[in-house]
Amino acid sequence: MHDSASTQLSLIRQLKFCAGHRLYRHESKCAFFHGHNYRVDIEVVAAGGGSEVDSVGRIVDFSMIKQRILAWLDAHWDHAFLIFEADTSALAAIRLVEPTKYFVMPYNPTAENMARYLLEAVAPGVLSDLGVVARRVAVWETDESCAVATLTGDGGGLHPPLASAVVIDDRCDP
Ligand SMILES: [Zn+2]
Repeated sequence: MHDSASTQLSLIRQLKFCAGHRLYRHESKCAFFHGHNYRVDIEVVAAGGGSEVDSVGRIVDFSMIKQRILAWLDAHWDHAFLIFEADTSALAAIRLVEPTKYFVMPYNPTAENMARYLLEAVAPGVLSDLGVVARRVAVWETDESCAVATLTGDGGGLHPPLASAVVIDDRCDP
């Protein structure tokens, strides 16, 4: 039955950061340490869904999405190395160089898994008090290639534990 049309509003904010990684057990060059200028597109909807907007006509102000998600990216992934927890030699190597910043992931840091992590672990925590839900996260690894994670259902069961970046920096402030 489709006897009544309805509108679903969402908004998309783009964010950028730089990070290094390697893909554990990758069969080719992605097994080497390297980095990307990543772009994240995060799509949010009102927690109540539909076309719910505030008195100004917004789902939420774009600046709030930037503020929350970019703050997390800056603190945890920007200028860090993303390493799979099973990749023990990469972990040992990154701990040898100081100052250092790295982030241990529960799976390989592919664009797919990064999108999934942002959708499932990061967005619920940093957006919940804004009354919005992240419905889709795209992680662009290059201008041509992106991976997309999409929430299906209400996402109630998806709250994997959130990790923190490890930052070791003994440099004195000038
Ligand atoms: Zn890569």
